[in-house]
Amino acid sequence: MRMKRNLEQDATNNAKESRVGVVPKPHSYKVRFGTTPAVWATPPDSGGEFFKRHIVAAGLIVVLAISLLAQNIPTSILSTDAMRTWLTYISSDDLEGRGTFNEGLGLAATYIADQLKDGGVSPGGDHGSYFQRVPVLGIRNLGRSSLTVEVKGQTRTFRDGEGVTFQKFVGVSRTFTVDQVEFLGNNAESTKTADYKGKVVVWLDYPDSITLLAAEEGGISAVLTAGSSNPGSDSSSGAPDFVTSQRLDLPRMPSITVGPELLDFLFSASDTNYGQIRTRSSRSEALKAFALKGVRLTINIDGNYRVVSSQFTRNVVGIVEGSDPQLRSTFVAFGAHYDHLGYIQGPLYGEATDRIYNGADDDGSGTTALIGLARAFAKGEKTRRSLVFVWHAGEELGLYGSRYFADNPPESVGDINNIVTQLNIDMIGRNRDNRSAEASTVYAVGADRISTELHNTLVDANASMSRPLSINFEMNDPSDGERIYYRSDHFSYASKGIPIIFFFSGLHPDYHQVTDTVEKIDFDKMARIGQLVYEIGRRVANQDRAPVKDFRGARAGRGATGKLSTN
Ligand SMILES: [Zn+2]
Repeated sequence: MRMKRNLEQDATNNAKESRVGVVPKPHSYKVRFGTTPAVWATPPDSGGEFFKRHIVAAGLIVVLAISLLAQNIPTSILSTDAMRTWLTYISSDDLEGRGTFNEGLGLAATYIADQLKDGGVSPGGDHGSYFQRVPVLGIRNLGRSSLTVEVKGQTRTFRDGEGVTFQKFVGVSRTFTVDQVEFLGNNAESTKTADYKGKVVVWLDYPDSITLLAAEEGGISAVLTAGSSNPGSDSSSGAPDFVTSQRLDLPRMPSITVGPELLDFLFSASDTNYGQIRTRSSRSEALKAFALKGVRLTINIDGNYRVVSSQFTRNVVGIVEGSDPQLRSTFVAFGAHYDHLGYIQGPLYGEATDRIYNGADDDGSGTTALIGLARAFAKGEKTRRSLVFVWHAGEELGLYGSRYFADNPPESVGDINNIVTQLNIDMIGRNRDNRSAEASTVYAVGADRISTELHNTLVDANASMSRPLSINFEMNDPSDGERIYYRSDHFSYASKGIPIIFFFSGLHPDYHQVTDTVEKIDFDKMARIGQLVYEIGRRVANQDRAPVKDFRGARAGRGATGKLSTN
């Protein structure tokens, strides 16, 4: 799970970039360049060696008994003993906190791949391997975008650095015109971005990065924010303008800081001019939203990118092929992130001696459950659709692995739209704030936003289980302060229009601490959540058509239970 503070830090950097021309120092830049993973010589497995030794000693009857037992594993879906073995290794100090670009993550990748191979899960990565290489690039944009404003037949063009400042990651070069422009006052966070699809919105205050993500997901054409404009970044420093794993040749919502000269002109045909807005704002008066009159904006995006730094990490990808000749080119995707925060390299303070962020819950729990799920599907009855399992890297630093996968799906998957649903699990082994009353509670986020049908599948699947969980939709509430929907890998798929469900057991005092360790994990709870994910995946993978996308947004929120109407 990505920290909210990190996202806010990004927003601060973006605001700085726009307002005073400061180039944000990407935090990932400080991380040491990694080396290729060492070969893991003898990974502990789930007991295969143990069985083999005893088989020799005990003879044929035991062999038969054990092989029968082994065949039964898929129907009980997830073995808590196997998960405990896997997670004990994955969250051990040996893996040094699985920091992206560090050796520990390479060990984890190799270990996951070994479990997949052993469990009969096919490789889905590059060149027939289990690994998909993820380049994380530092980019400078040397292009000069421009914004042309037309008000009542008068036209003025503002070039980047001259009265306007474009955020540096503007996507592919293109030109588009919009004549619907809405002033939304100064409260950028509370605005329902989906209501302004296809329009340009104007805010007085710079929105936080989550609001920008929501605006882009909601289909807003561009965001303009009032601010003093400054010349672009200093071309002599050589530092990247931004760091990303996303494609540069796709359209992206521009976020533009605009100065008073442009704003005076932009509002000149409206009932309220910009001078009046400024006066009201300085008196802290409430500002009403309104549509600007007689305005046409032409945005010319110039993305002239240079790669100035690169780092590599990798996703782990496994495939279980479907049985239906027609449907098996489509997929249900299952995801978790296997990276975490690494280790403290500098001095420790006070009495502290522990340097390693073990990340047993975040997201060792999802990583482990996903291994169990992939193996269970490989051994169990084949689904009609194919299944792809992705262990994403770089989630904590900025969803690098999932952003890359969604932009560049491997050959085994083909087009990203072949994925009909993505089920993401990140932190499912604990109780929120250590509340023991939540031992049967799982938080589900995002299920209804793109496909009401998928939300209903979740409810039905849970009801069909021998021990149903208590599904809590509180964190799907748009008013929820944690804004979880934007903070883990499912968002990379959702922003491509793929229906998702995110499973989460809640934050706790060990979140992002060195104390997130394996002995605190509730394996029974993990197995139950895994079983639910299995059942939802199985149902979606077997249905005739993909879940219907109706894009109706979040409706199941605090206190919600049960299905939603599809009418
Ligand atoms: Zn995290």
